[in-house]
Amino acid sequence: MIDDYKNLQSVGYNIIKNAVNNDKISHAYLIETMGNDYGFDFALAFAKVLLCPYKYFNDAKCGNCNQCKAIDDNNFIELEIIDTEEMWIKKEKIDSLQKNFNFKPIIGKRKVYIINNADRIKDTIANKLLKFIEEPAEGIVAILVTENKEKIIDTIISRCQIISLKKLSNLNNNILNKYENDLIIKTVDFLNYFEKNEIETIAHTNELIHNNFKEREEYINFFELMILIYNDIINLKLNNKNTTFNDYNINLDDFKKLSFENILKKIDILLDLKKYIMNNVNLNLLIDKLIINFEKVNKCQ
Ligand SMILES: [Zn+2]
Repeated sequence: MIDDYKNLQSVGYNIIKNAVNNDKISHAYLIETMGNDYGFDFALAFAKVLLCPYKYFNDAKCGNCNQCKAIDDNNFIELEIIDTEEMWIKKEKIDSLQKNFNFKPIIGKRKVYIINNADRIKDTIANKLLKFIEEPAEGIVAILVTENKEKIIDTIISRCQIISLKKLSNLNNNILNKYENDLIIKTVDFLNYFEKNEIETIAHTNELIHNNFKEREEYINFFELMILIYNDIINLKLNNKNTTFNDYNINLDDFKKLSFENILKKIDILLDLKKYIMNNVNLNLLIDKLIINFEKVNKCQ
């Protein structure tokens, strides 16, 4: 589902979301994977958005209708996937694609083809594809996927809308896969709430924390997230852009006024209290203690 990429690839995600919501879909897209191994999966999720009869970005998200299921089974006539493990994509495959995509879609409004490893099309064949990409039959969308845009002829590139995926370190990928966006936002909300209300936060731990985090493992995640967020704040204060979260629509600017000392002490408190989570301590008391200790840090500034 394209929503899986909402945080991982917020720029690409938003290009697609805006295009679909405004009904301004281009004839052709070129997805540049930038070393991410899910470039093709991203393209497939995009194709689903285009082909699913239920609008993905409305409340009723799909992924479960007959079309989407057929796509998952690799059995949907309005979607064709071209790929190769060899050095070049065979000419016959491109010829047959052109034949199949000379017509308007039969089911629904659109017909999509994905060419994975699009850089493996020989230039002579790529030149034949040009007009096909540029002036397709009604409702046809091309999605090309490549690791290396430089290997594709300029004339094709100029006819495509480029979606360059963001290059992410494995660390960031893992972190963002591990924590739900919702969890990250709730954690930032809690920290924000504390900085504004300090000790009074203790009266609101249910709605801020306990209603959102249930299992002990979730509290561990909550603590780890707080530590990562504070680390990011330190990096931001140092003008180091290499942060875990700030690129993902989470604004940490409000925290920049905290001193380094304040943040480091809070990280210490988190590391210390985190050890007790799995030891059967009462989690209500643990969180109260966290807030009291945070309060002490703020008071001695
Ligand atoms: Zn669907």
